[in-house]
Amino acid sequence: MEAYIYIQPIQLPHAEVLDRQTTMRLSVDLALKFGMDCKVAPLIALDEDAYDPLREQYLAAAILSNLKSRGYSYASKVLGIVGEDLYADTLSFVFGQAELGGKYGVISTSRLHPNPQDRNSSIFYERILKESVHELGHTFGLEHCPNVQCVMHFSNTLRDTDIKSASFCGHCETWLGMRLKKVAN
Ligand SMILES: [Zn+2]
Ligand SMILES: [Zn+2]
Repeated sequence: MEAYIYIQPIQLPHAEVLDRQTTMRLSVDLALKFGMDCKVAPLIALDEDAYDPLREQYLAAAILSNLKSRGYSYASKVLGIVGEDLYADTLSFVFGQAELGGKYGVISTSRLHPNPQDRNSSIFYERILKESVHELGHTFGLEHCPNVQCVMHFSNTLRDTDIKSASFCGHCETWLGMRLKKVAN
């Protein structure tokens, strides 16, 4: 069976969906990064179940469970993209979450928007790419990396995301290369 990454745009009641052009661009870049096909799934809508009205956030784990329940037996990896802010049990917010060594991940674009005074027009896209590569890296089994420029470095703040690159450090790259060979076989 052909291995590929599936980007799943998700419509939540309180946020906008990432535009089609940016999503398509992301699929091209992810295919290059991981050396495997990347496709964009038709939009799905999730209801309010995972929404906490007091926090005005969604529970990331609930979105992962929902994706899991859909199976996607034809895809190797599934990356959900939402516009709503996400939180985890122990963290006030997360840029994304993924199953370590599993199949499902999700990112939120909510906190990735540039400040109005930001002149780097590509920064929003760069952040989306970094967080997507990071969460997919987790699904391939990569854990957080101490190298601040490595895409697998943990982002506690947007500044961390901006400091790191969209690429894996040598150590993570080697490790990922070994995993990708396994997927291809
Ligand atoms: Zn992480
Ligand atoms: Zn690394």
